[in-house]
Amino acid sequence: MYLKNHLLAGKYSGRTAHHLHCDKHCGRLLRPDTIVLHYTGGADAISSAHHLARPDTDASAHIVIARDGGIIQLLPFNTIAWHAGKSEYEGRTNLNRYSIGIEMDNAGQLHRRGDRFYSWFKREYMPDEVYTHCENGQATYWHNYTLAQIQSVFAVCKLLLLNYPIQHIVGHSDISSRKIDPGPAFPMEKFRHQLLLHHTPHQTPFGG
Ligand SMILES: [Zn+2]
Repeated sequence: MYLKNHLLAGKYSGRTAHHLHCDKHCGRLLRPDTIVLHYTGGADAISSAHHLARPDTDASAHIVIARDGGIIQLLPFNTIAWHAGKSEYEGRTNLNRYSIGIEMDNAGQLHRRGDRFYSWFKREYMPDEVYTHCENGQATYWHNYTLAQIQSVFAVCKLLLLNYPIQHIVGHSDISSRKIDPGPAFPMEKFRHQLLLHHTPHQTPFGG
């Protein structure tokens, strides 16, 4: 996989990324230095991608990653998408202006009724799809992420690190107190550590 005109091209794991037409951006993203990870909170990747691409919804993202690892690109990486909303990180606000947004197909937090687990849109999830998070003696339940999905997110992030001056990989909840995605089921610390530890920031004429 490689980038051509800020779009994913070539193969990853024997497949190619899909491209979906989306006009919902606001101008050029000149030097993205942050990747923001989200969950869709939706039922499946295709419907979430179409929802984000629709002209009458007020959100968009660069990429949606399906549970089978499939990648759908909505916007080229040099355009500003509407994924971060009201946001703040390390003294800067409106992170859309600095970041690439990746949405992962995931139903988000689940509700337990007896031994059964349901999403906010009332779909039932089997116990092997449920991640249990314990904090202060309190358990909460979340839709898990699949290995294929995490591997695709990793591959995309690695490519972005090679092509843009990326310095931060954050979750939506790290930049907006209103948000809880991507949630505790996503191995954020490990993921960030593996990607950024040995990474030398991309050099640019402006000093990287
Ligand atoms: Zn989000």
